[in-house]
Amino acid sequence: MKETICTIPVNEIFEQTGGCPICRMRDIIEKKYIDYITGAAMMEPDVRMLTNAKGFCEKHFRQMLARCTNRLPICQMLHSHLVDSDRKLLKNADSSSAKKLAKLEESCFVCEYIENHFSRSLDTLFRNYKTEPEFRQLFAKQEYLCFPHYRRMLTDGKSAAGNKYAELCETSHKLVCKHSDLLKDQLMGFIESFDYRNAGMPMPEDSRDCIERTIQFLTSRHPSEV
Ligand SMILES: [Zn+2]
Ligand SMILES: [Zn+2]
Repeated sequence: MKETICTIPVNEIFEQTGGCPICRMRDIIEKKYIDYITGAAMMEPDVRMLTNAKGFCEKHFRQMLARCTNRLPICQMLHSHLVDSDRKLLKNADSSSAKKLAKLEESCFVCEYIENHFSRSLDTLFRNYKTEPEFRQLFAKQEYLCFPHYRRMLTDGKSAAGNKYAELCETSHKLVCKHSDLLKDQLMGFIESFDYRNAGMPMPEDSRDCIERTIQFLTSRHPSEV
């Protein structure tokens, strides 16, 4: 796959605010790969070999169906995937086939490519954080970091952010805790609106969709998202 498909403008992403910036970064990469794979790439023999071997996770199958305008390449890819599976996975009902099936369940062509580019974009982020004071300011102004991406700051930033790693952890920690406090208040507003002592009082506006936003904060995905 061409390297140029996914050069992520990390600074530009951090110039915006609203939600988790790393989710925004992941979404851009994900959209590019879904567009790529539902386009001409699916017909390329080397891509076909990979999609046969790795398959797709349920989430990315759903995104492919939602975003593609032409279902024929998906149909051809699925047919090829089943033909390939006859030979490799369905030949015998034995433990070796079970192991290969388990491996297929855990692999996804899109997930792997996304992760590959995502970790490189994170490296750029850490490098910028280490060397650019303006970028550190943009980072600190973000609305929040979701749980999974907060975790990536702590685990992946260690070597890449160098002498700014402690500051990165501290700032990330503040962003995640501040948002957790806000969501706890909003969830409590939801709960309390069901208390008989508050009968007749409307539910606070920001508590109405706080369950969905908390799920997004915990998992990095809004439940209504395809
Ligand atoms: Zn996130
Ligand atoms: Zn996937």
